[in-house]
Amino acid sequence: MAGKNIWTTYNESQLAELDAINEKYKECLDAGKTERECVELCVRMAEESGYRSLEEVMTSGKKLKAGDKIYAVNMKKMLALFRLGEEPISSGMNILGAHIDSPRIDVKQNPLYENEGLAYLDTHYYGGIKKYQWVAQPLALHGVIVKKNGRVKKVSIGEEENDPVFVITDLLVHLAQEQMEKKASKVIEGEKLDLLIGNCPVDEVLEGESRKEQKEAVKANVLRLLKEKYSMEEADFTSAELEIVPAGKARDCGLDRSMILSYGQDDRVCAFTSLFAMLDVTDAKRTGCCLLVDKEEIGSVGATGMHSRFFENTVAELIALTEGESELKVRRALANSRMLSSDVSAAYDPMYAEAFEKRSSAFFANGLTFNKFTGSRGKSGSNDANAEYIATLRKALDDEEVAYQFAELGRVDLGGGGTIAYIMANYGMEVIDSGVAVLNMHAPYEVSSKADVYEAVRGYRAFLKMQK
Ligand code: MN
Ligand code: MN
Repeated sequence: MAGKNIWTTYNESQLAELDAINEKYKECLDAGKTERECVELCVRMAEESGYRSLEEVMTSGKKLKAGDKIYAVNMKKMLALFRLGEEPISSGMNILGAHIDSPRIDVKQNPLYENEGLAYLDTHYYGGIKKYQWVAQPLALHGVIVKKNGRVKKVSIGEEENDPVFVITDLLVHLAQEQMEKKASKVIEGEKLDLLIGNCPVDEVLEGESRKEQKEAVKANVLRLLKEKYSMEEADFTSAELEIVPAGKARDCGLDRSMILSYGQDDRVCAFTSLFAMLDVTDAKRTGCCLLVDKEEIGSVGATGMHSRFFENTVAELIALTEGESELKVRRALANSRMLSSDVSAAYDPMYAEAFEKRSSAFFANGLTFNKFTGSRGKSGSNDANAEYIATLRKALDDEEVAYQFAELGRVDLGGGGTIAYIMANYGMEVIDSGVAVLNMHAPYEVSSKADVYEAVRGYRAFLKMQK
């Protein structure tokens, strides 16, 4: 059941802080539309707050001490920030974790083709999407092209006011009688999600070829433009990572401006609020950590997903730079830690009430959401947080008057979702799923409540300050 709507509890100064945090959050959403862009942005913000890279510290040969702020980047897609507390790392850390990859559509490795005078990029979607939601709307292209000589060209097309945008077409309704009979999973098929990127043939006079000789002239023109702008050949697509995302900025939503409508809030709403809290809290006794990972949407696999050894290796380096190299102390540090594994939760949607069980739903403007467990079909695959840990969290949040709620992801046996919680729990640390509730999760544009964004930052600050 919905608890108290927290909007009415705020005083003037709290409302001002809420606004400031949400404005900053929207700017971050606009600047970080891919995992790479998020890492760049977060590193910039961390450096401005006095964080130094672990590499730099290691080269300097100096030891680390309480109060030092360190960050480590893994392959430009995963990031860990640490603020060393007075207590040794081996007595445990307070870890805020979230993911910075979001559902999207990726460009394939041999993508460019022409069909009847239209040029396309062939695609393969990333993460769980309702494919029919991604057609007939402005799309932007973000990513990198890496040349054989190692030079990295950044790509961002479709965000500036004068930029062109791209589109995935849908069949006109007038001819859609058969399409409309199909079930939603088949209405738009995966191989029909190709991106329309051109219709103008290359200038034959310039190329010195006759009109008849020039085959695939539209594709040739696209290649000409790519060469001009990115000095890129067609083969360079094979060593590119290009992500198709909705074009445009995060917007206030609602006449009362109480919500935010934006792409990528799963899970950047938890990632950026975790980062904000991490940069704010500078007096914690325990070591604080903010861990922002990639690949959650496809199972946390790969070198930049939570399953990689990057985090463990980084902790080992920090132990070596503080308490002295010790495998046992690394294990102790991990086992003695506690974590908020933050990911978006499904907000109760009255339009789809049948998908929820009200008593165990997360509601907008009810604060930070906790899931004791997630998973599906009898909690399968879930990290089940310990009651003792939950009790200590309740105390810490109540002491700071943070609003929070307990929920499950929808009705039992209707579906489910995974997070990174169970992976960190493997170290024997206390972990709970938490986060911000959103409406239409995984849609091109997701909705969050500004009040919940604010409570997330407040909750994460309280968590970082928690004592043993
Ligand atoms: Mn997520
Ligand atoms: Mn997700």
